[in-house]
Amino acid sequence: MTLTGVAQRSHPRVPVDVEVTAAAPRTGPQPSVVVTLKGLTAGYVRSSFSLQLPALRIVRGERVALVGPSGSGKTTLLRVVNGRVSIEQGELELFGCPVTAATLRGRSLRRRIGFIFQTFQLVGRATVFENILWGRLSWRSTLPSLFSSFSREDRLQTEEVIREVGLEAQALQRVSDLSGGQQQRVGIARALVQEPDLILADEPVSNLDPETANEIMRLLERACNSRHVTLMMSLHQPDLARRHAGRIITLEGGRLVDDQPNPEALVPRTGDTLHR
Ligand code: ADP
Ligand code: MG
Repeated sequence: MTLTGVAQRSHPRVPVDVEVTAAAPRTGPQPSVVVTLKGLTAGYVRSSFSLQLPALRIVRGERVALVGPSGSGKTTLLRVVNGRVSIEQGELELFGCPVTAATLRGRSLRRRIGFIFQTFQLVGRATVFENILWGRLSWRSTLPSLFSSFSREDRLQTEEVIREVGLEAQALQRVSDLSGGQQQRVGIARALVQEPDLILADEPVSNLDPETANEIMRLLERACNSRHVTLMMSLHQPDLARRHAGRIITLEGGRLVDDQPNPEALVPRTGDTLHR
């Protein structure tokens, strides 16, 4: 496999329905609403914990950090949006359509949501290339595709994101031989190759040292910005949220206690280039 000779391409986006609210000024299309929560309550069978959130809208291209103490419900909220925790009351809409845990398990929605894990969740014995290529599986319509070869397009997309996350030299190495930061680059690439409209990231950098955590956050921020992809991430380090999120939602005890735009993250930072 070669990673050279493939032209860098722009990232085609899946069109998202544009919602124009009645109150909006008629000066052009309004941003697409990606996530809508309507007075939502969710919890677990074997726990008294209850996530109770007011109406909330997250639009296309937003980078939202969920912050708050351990146990405040950050992961639970991401799992609700990902269909892993059932909604008890209220409604969740994704991309303008009401969804349930059942519809979220369907392929068409799953393909539009990428997930990045704290513990990377990679196949250690497989190569960087293979781990990322498998992110393209969500584009396949049937299970037998697991056993058939990937398309040229799948491979080109994989090569492209490998370059984007700076892992050309490691493409054929086993993931278990990589550093934590490199492994999370693979995790990010696997989500990106899926061409999602929404990326959910649960503590994506909390297993990394501070310098690497910053590097990975810059990579994630840049990747989402260039695609105008919506990012919802839980972060327990408030300084990382201030640096990299355009909006900070604070949870406490399953309740939303603060929801602020974060102008600090919009100011270009000098010397904030990405090391690759
Ligand atoms: P955070 O991510 O903010 O640390 P979580 O969303 O993981 O918080 O957890 C919120 C609460 O839900 C905690 O009290 C936790 O014990 C409980 N909880 C999390 N996952 C489960 C589960 N699978 N079953 C029962 N309770 C859970
Ligand atoms: Mg958590």
